[in-house]
Amino acid sequence: MVTLQNSTLEKSIKVERVIGALKGTTPGPTTIFVGGIHGNEPAGVFALHNVLENLKKKDIPVKGNIYAIAGNLWALEHGRRFQKEDLNRLWSRDKVQNLRNGAIQHPKNQDVKEQIDIYITCKEILDNNNGPFYFFDLHTTSSETMPFITVNDNLLNRKFTSQYPIPIVLGIEEYLEGPLLSYVNELGYVAFGFEGGQHDDISSIENHMAFVYLSLVFAGCIIKEDIDFDHQFGILAKYAISTNSFFEIFDHFKLKSNDTFSMHPGFINFQTIRKGQELAVYNNTEISAPHNGRIFMPLYQHQGSDGFFIIRSIPLFFLKLSALLRRIHLDQFLTYFPGVNWQTKKKQALVVNRKLAFFFTKDFFHLLGYRSKEIDKNHLIMKNRETVTRKKDYKDTLWWKKK
Ligand SMILES: [Zn+2]
Repeated sequence: MVTLQNSTLEKSIKVERVIGALKGTTPGPTTIFVGGIHGNEPAGVFALHNVLENLKKKDIPVKGNIYAIAGNLWALEHGRRFQKEDLNRLWSRDKVQNLRNGAIQHPKNQDVKEQIDIYITCKEILDNNNGPFYFFDLHTTSSETMPFITVNDNLLNRKFTSQYPIPIVLGIEEYLEGPLLSYVNELGYVAFGFEGGQHDDISSIENHMAFVYLSLVFAGCIIKEDIDFDHQFGILAKYAISTNSFFEIFDHFKLKSNDTFSMHPGFINFQTIRKGQELAVYNNTEISAPHNGRIFMPLYQHQGSDGFFIIRSIPLFFLKLSALLRRIHLDQFLTYFPGVNWQTKKKQALVVNRKLAFFFTKDFFHLLGYRSKEIDKNHLIMKNRETVTRKKDYKDTLWWKKK
């Protein structure tokens, strides 16, 4: 049990691993929310605590089950991002395999201890509840920002997230090693992240609460009429930046451990930038924008290895084209081309020899639902995000059936 203080709200709450759980009286989906996987981001934990209390107080009928889980309890208590290792970078395939085997007898730090506990908690929920399952991972950012969604690009995630009136950024997992959500997506479930605002901004809690209410309605755990839906929707809708809210990352400024990096003050997430505009000082050199676009996740804290990203909106035409190409499984024909081979017989990943298959760009594979990983200078592993998704589990949901 740890105590969390919010000085602005003059409120403190006590939380355990399971912040709260609500069992419905009728069958339905299972929704799992994780707050505070980064200990310096308590807004999501406060929001989850508040929403569950409100649902109980007002005796709102629940279909299925709702679970709210706290991430890095030690780090939350200490107001730090993590102790020794970022808990949101420990979920790579190998590391999860070790958890599954029970191979970690003596966790080397508090963060790994927390990971084991979260893994066991989630496994118990998955084993003892019925699907469809939905995972939501709640965060805040170091820079000032409007709320937005980050999502691994598969058609299930795309369709579910298109219900929210805020920007949706696709494909960030290609730039991160071992985030929790990529692991959950590999299990095939709808899973994505919500960034509710700046760490200490008081509106971040309100934004998170609105997000949790909308998520529960969209997943079918509660009905619109039982909450003030229009009000909650409005809290997020005021941040909509365009009618088409999907964005993709097309540039990334990566830092190495001994680099010095100082972002110029005043950049707000999603702010439009021009080619040549001065953005930051990196190892005593001025860095300017290589393209026009929008700045994304500029680094304004000491811990972190991503200086900034540049994003652009994805034209609706490409969103539709890529959905179509994925549905007809165009990728099945790619191995007829020289330099493109299946990695294994399961056909979940392609190995691309860039010298032979130079005409296939990363963008083209993205269109078909692949995420890329460089294995060496000449070879890419392209992993299909669609094949693992459990589309069948969601086929009867209202949001999936909606045209
Ligand atoms: Zn975070």
